[in-house]
Amino acid sequence: MTLISKFDPWHSQLCTCPPKLTFNPYTGCDHACVYCYASSYIPKFFDCRPKKNLILRLKREAAKLNGEIISISNSSDPYPNLEAKTGLMRKCLKILSRQNCRIQIITKSDLVVKDIDLLRKVPSMVSMTITTDDDTTAEIIEPHAPLPSKRLRAIETLVYRGVPVSVRIDPIIPFINDNPERLVETLASLGVKHITASTYKVRPDNWQRLSIVLPEISEKLKPFYFEKGEKRGGYLYLPRELRLQLLKKLYDLTEKYKLSLGTCREGLTFLDTAICDGSYLLEKTRKHYCL
Ligand code: SF4
Repeated sequence: MTLISKFDPWHSQLCTCPPKLTFNPYTGCDHACVYCYASSYIPKFFDCRPKKNLILRLKREAAKLNGEIISISNSSDPYPNLEAKTGLMRKCLKILSRQNCRIQIITKSDLVVKDIDLLRKVPSMVSMTITTDDDTTAEIIEPHAPLPSKRLRAIETLVYRGVPVSVRIDPIIPFINDNPERLVETLASLGVKHITASTYKVRPDNWQRLSIVLPEISEKLKPFYFEKGEKRGGYLYLPRELRLQLLKKLYDLTEKYKLSLGTCREGLTFLDTAICDGSYLLEKTRKHYCL
């Protein structure tokens, strides 16, 4: 099995991402988010481990690349807590930058800041996930991920050093993080250019975790998913009208604060004002080469 593959999110017909490659340096993730989808496909998911012979295999596979967009990562976080000890992402970025790959990092960790010098060598962008700007809520739903306040500081540093940033508000969960005005205002003030958003989809294991940590909210959510919701490709979606209402609210905020928006796997592409994954930012000229 190869490390680098064509990005194809479980054959989802709702995905509107442009063609790109994807690569996961780790199997699993130690952030242990309650809503995580990947945990339902990958055994022992929260027991994070580097891929076997990662660096040797990446060197061999990357030798064939020349300038492709490579998205790191889509089935895990490339900066789990383990990365602080291993430093494997730094080695991977060195290999990929030699092939002039355009690099899109998708993470929930401020550890990405340690690799800014490498990200500045090739067209790159960071897509930082922030579901809420409330540290207390984040500690419940993303128990081992760096706090949002740290992620916001990382965004500030990335933007200051000339690395474009988009933010994933993903997933939006009613009664938990469905009022993102303060967050969007903060992101705009920090120089974020794009938001990618998606509503929470139920899988049996993520629902079980959510019900344990937030029993009252899961009771309130139940009828929206299990009675009125839509089943699509093994996931339970909120009813379309409710998803539209939640994402339209975000659309209005992005218009107000002049950010572009992409919705992810919702079938609501008329709300998109840019390529869903924000990868257009890869082509933006970096203006601030401040040290
Ligand atoms: S950071 Fe992403 S991959 Fe890791 S547990 Fe959270 S949702 Fe899953």
